Amino acid sequence: MPLEVKPRFVVLYGSQKGQAQSIAEGIAEEAEEHGLVAELCCLNQDDKYNLEKECAPVVFVVSTTGDGEPPDNALQFVKRIKKRTLSPDHYKHLLYALLALGDTNYANFCNCGKTIERRLRELGARQFYPTGYADDGVGLELVIDPWLKGLWNSIKDALTKMASDRTVQLKEDSAKEIPESSLPDVQLNLLSIADKQICEPDSKYSPSLAISDVRPPPASTVYTSAPNTQACSEGIPQVSLAASLTSSVPPLSESSLNVPALPPAYLDVTLQEADAAEQAAERLSKEARYEVPISKAVQLSKGDSVKTALLLELDISAFPSMTYHPGDSFDVFCPNVAEEVDHLLHRLGLQDQKNHRVQISLKDNTKKKGAQVPPHIPENVSLLFLLTWCLEIRSVPKKAFLRALVEHTSDSAQRRRLQELCSKQGAADYNLYVRDASLGVSELLAAFPSCSPPLSLLIELLPKLQPRPYSAACSLLRHPEKLRFVFNVVEFPACSGRPTARRGLCTGWLFDLVSPGLVFPEKAELALPKIHVSLRPNCSFRPPSDPSLPFIMIGPGTGVAPFIGFLQQREEERKENPEAKFGETWLFFGCRYRDKDYLFREELENFVSSGTLNHLKVCFSREDRKDEEEPPSAAQPRYVQHNLLLCCRQVTDILLRRNGYIYVCGDAKNMAKDVNETLMEMIKTELQVDQLEAMKTLAGLREQKRYLQDIWA
Ligand code: FAD
Repeated sequence: MPLEVKPRFVVLYGSQKGQAQSIAEGIAEEAEEHGLVAELCCLNQDDKYNLEKECAPVVFVVSTTGDGEPPDNALQFVKRIKKRTLSPDHYKHLLYALLALGDTNYANFCNCGKTIERRLRELGARQFYPTGYADDGVGLELVIDPWLKGLWNSIKDALTKMASDRTVQLKEDSAKEIPESSLPDVQLNLLSIADKQICEPDSKYSPSLAISDVRPPPASTVYTSAPNTQACSEGIPQVSLAASLTSSVPPLSESSLNVPALPPAYLDVTLQEADAAEQAAERLSKEARYEVPISKAVQLSKGDSVKTALLLELDISAFPSMTYHPGDSFDVFCPNVAEEVDHLLHRLGLQDQKNHRVQISLKDNTKKKGAQVPPHIPENVSLLFLLTWCLEIRSVPKKAFLRALVEHTSDSAQRRRLQELCSKQGAADYNLYVRDASLGVSELLAAFPSCSPPLSLLIELLPKLQPRPYSAACSLLRHPEKLRFVFNVVEFPACSGRPTARRGLCTGWLFDLVSPGLVFPEKAELALPKIHVSLRPNCSFRPPSDPSLPFIMIGPGTGVAPFIGFLQQREEERKENPEAKFGETWLFFGCRYRDKDYLFREELENFVSSGTLNHLKVCFSREDRKDEEEPPSAAQPRYVQHNLLLCCRQVTDILLRRNGYIYVCGDAKNMAKDVNETLMEMIKTELQVDQLEAMKTLAGLREQKRYLQDIWA
């Protein structure tokens, strides 16, 4: 009878917003059901794992952030494995699997995962399970669910393989008289796998470890209770059957369901009566480094047929260390909407205790791997503060959250519907009614009135309220002690599950803060409040370090923000050094209407007059064109890429022959992709090469950091 020792494997994650972390935690938690033991670590906890000596399979779960950057907690690891001094057999002993999270709306999809994988292979590591590339643009679960399903047998195969490799090795070594003490580990691993027969009955042993993407299952394998849905012009689904957020129709309503495992509870939360005089700002300022007054607020757009664009100026004179460069962005810390917090407090039955202090501790016997009190919740805060500043209460609940809500729902029909929404069979309904509609926990609780989750569940499963980044729209050389930024007030229409329209959290809040000053401009200087910000330096999105090199800027709408900083800086430098040689500058700008949302028009025209900006190309997407029948094209430019095409010769000359730079800023979903495709076409035409060669040329420009993007969804 072999000893009962469960084989171990390692799970490492790199996570910016908690998504990759929670998937990694899920893997670690599920391990036990499969007769395995998982060791879970964040990639930055390098004192807790040692890949150089690791003899168990390693599963990586990593997200990508910004312009293809690693998450903060994976940065050091990526740096380490990129070292050119490492030998090609550095990780020869390692067997790994990798799940990469990304978003195809951004350039460099899953770049961090791809970088780690490339380096692991270059260093000799072998893959034991195909890499999954999950796309947040279409729904991460389309790849994650099947990837996780297949993971377990592959881990077991990998363990078996590693153990038998070691056994062979040991047999060879024992001929050379290796002490017996080094034998048992491996044999225990081998025996416990074989003896326990832990393979799931329906899972086939797959020896094929060929390297390929894990693709989403075909649509036909996903049940939906809403088969007859059509997207209306605004992209809001119109449901023609009786299915809705709260009810389903066959086949889903009659299907047996595969629901995810219940996430283990891990926090004890108590509320204690306390003195209500809490210093909220003091608590927050520990995290947000600077509390700065808004010194100016200007509405840049005119008329009601366009988005409201505002420019805010912050007075940073109290913080001399707060220096930034054109191209940098900074984070704005915003609170949740007071009415939404109030509504949630009522719904949780905690309205009377909103000023109580929240005491959070770890449950004694929790099964959650790596459980910790969420680091984004300061000690002893009031319940009101916690819901206002710490948790993203509008975030779309993940399926694990829905699964947990089932346990706190008394009505059986509502329980069943929640189970459907988190089940494999109900994936299409989840996407349609929850994810695409961006429903938050409050809206779900309104739709499922018999659901009464405890506060601890929300603290366990709601992510951290993230600050919102904005690009600096000025230069310190022009505006010493000031920091300006520009934004559109985001508006979301009403949809099924949310009867009223609403605004983006941060932009709506900023608008409310400054709107009295906007309505009565003469009062603008009087009562503008303070906000909390911190800097996010961007070391690559900067004007060329050699000012004699030419550069091209593409920034429609609020994407023009960093380029105002670039041009102000250039203008000041020209004044300081009139003899110096400065490269040619181009700006491609676009908006809807010349008279309504042509942001910074006067300033841009002044840059042209002063010679700071050599070429200003502007287009208006909603103004009458000569021939409406014709599709928009270079002949009738509507978008920035059409103007780019018109300047094909000069643009390619700058990029391909004059060592110049190109910067793209703004909308990631459409504009950045269209610009990228246009650049590809231009390179094909100009160099007379095929698609692949053009792609390589663009990739080369990116690599040399001469094609740079600062884009957001
Ligand atoms: P949120 O409430 O966060 O909503 C934004 C997103 O959430 C939507 O795009 C949508 O995907 C989703 N969403 C939320 N609720 C709904 C709903 N009800 N229906 C549908 N979808 C929903 N923005 C600027 O305007 N100017 C800048 O200079 C700028 N610079 C940036 C620089 C960087 C490096 C990055 C990463 C982003 C930048 N942004 C900029 C974007 C900015 O950070 C915010 O994302 C944006 O202002 C919206 O924030 P919000 O809180 O108002 O919206």
